[in-house]
Amino acid sequence: MRIVVFGAGVVGVAAAWYLAADGHEVTVVDRQPGPALETSFANGGQISASHAEPWANPRAPLTILKWLGRADAPLLFRPTADWRQWRWALQFLIECLPSRTQYNTIQCVNLALYSRDCLKALRATIGIEYDQLTRGILEFHTDAKSFAGAAVAAELTREYGADRAVKTVDECVAIEPALATCRQRLAGGIFTATDESGDAQRFTQELARLAAARGVAFRWSTTVESLVTDGIALRGARCKTVAEREHRRREIIDADSYVVALGSGSPSLLSPIGVPAPIYPVKGYSATIAVGAHRGAPVVSLTDLERKLVFSRFGDRLRIAGTAELSGYGNALDRVRCDALITRAFELFPDAGVRESAQFWAGLRPATPSNVPLVGATRYRNLFVDTGHGTLGWTMACGSGRALADLIAGRKPDVDFAFTRG
Ligand SMILES: Cc1cc2nc3c(=O)[nH]c(=O)nc-3n(C[C@H](O)[C@H](O)[C@H](O)COP(=O)(O)OP(=O)(O)OC[C@H]3O[C@@H](n4cnc5c(N)ncnc54)[C@H](O)[C@@H]3O)c2cc1C
Repeated sequence: MRIVVFGAGVVGVAAAWYLAADGHEVTVVDRQPGPALETSFANGGQISASHAEPWANPRAPLTILKWLGRADAPLLFRPTADWRQWRWALQFLIECLPSRTQYNTIQCVNLALYSRDCLKALRATIGIEYDQLTRGILEFHTDAKSFAGAAVAAELTREYGADRAVKTVDECVAIEPALATCRQRLAGGIFTATDESGDAQRFTQELARLAAARGVAFRWSTTVESLVTDGIALRGARCKTVAEREHRRREIIDADSYVVALGSGSPSLLSPIGVPAPIYPVKGYSATIAVGAHRGAPVVSLTDLERKLVFSRFGDRLRIAGTAELSGYGNALDRVRCDALITRAFELFPDAGVRESAQFWAGLRPATPSNVPLVGATRYRNLFVDTGHGTLGWTMACGSGRALADLIAGRKPDVDFAFTRG
């Protein structure tokens, strides 16, 4: 079957890989000149399958209120005149109800654990390299009350199959010796030995290269402007290609089936044809510093729960990422938020690396209010979605792509997940 995948972020490229492995003739279309140049560009790098509980939880509204109005807040709601932002925020509040949180946690943990297995299997089969580290993820707490709550939550997610062990301060420092410099601040941690980290952009570029070598076609600098339907099936996509020397070409790209993996760009194409896409961008920041000759940078991937930051080591680079801002589609860098990342990193790890080498980036997480992604069929028989992965797109990309390939082939996916239906 001829299949077009719209979107060459980590999610779209992973889907293309599994579809091609099933023998389909796959074309990937993206407005950028190469893979992973939008949200998959410089994320936190964590394959955090066991930390997959959604942001929408009973504690979230209070946390957001606590930080309201602070420019350096880890969670920030900047109201705009966009009704979609308000609708998303209201849906988010509903998802904070305990019963919704429990259901969403099960969905996210199931897909994330499955996806981690798919990534491991892929690595074993094709030997893909992306600065991966299989040394676990340690979530550390600097507040005793938050640590006590996290220990209870860890127990709960263990019931759903997540492997989370509660650790004392000494145990945390033994797992990651770089934490010795901030030992006095620590209250304890939750460690998942089976979680991983790695550079999502490098992974996506490498997988795209391997996919191209196996026959997947990539159409770069091609923007999807609208989807064309006859009410029952998708007939094609109106696209505009900006070729070299600014030559523009408009055409309809058609295929037998289509997958929308456009991240935050998905609703503007799906909503006009009546496919529900409750996705809104949640902006996040990262800073990447060179470790150089410094010896104080962590190696084990860390989550600083108080500041909602993650630290991941990619060879001689240290990535610090996090913060969430509901502020619309802009991805301009805010100096205060960039500085907050670096300040916190050097506060905890004074010898982490070369401060002046910091490269800042902001990206838009394609978030659903529940944080559960949209993977599966739509009301159009040949249109599928693989989008809305929010905070966990890197963690869930392989599992989503693999499961979607199963659904398209008429096989039952090996994961218990609420796939979208037509
Ligand atoms: C600061 C930060 C830290 C994060 N940390 C982690 C982490 O540690 N672990 C984790 O699992 N996840 C993390 N994430 C989330 C993760 O990065 C995203 O969920 C993931 O990158 C989404 O991938 P995607 O392929 O869906 O979207 P994208 O990477 O944005 O890909 C979508 C693609 O669609 C293309 N596109 C959009 N509209 C159009 C159009 N009209 N026509 C043509 N092409 C179009 C874009 O060019 C883009 O290439 C983080 C995100 C941020 C912002």
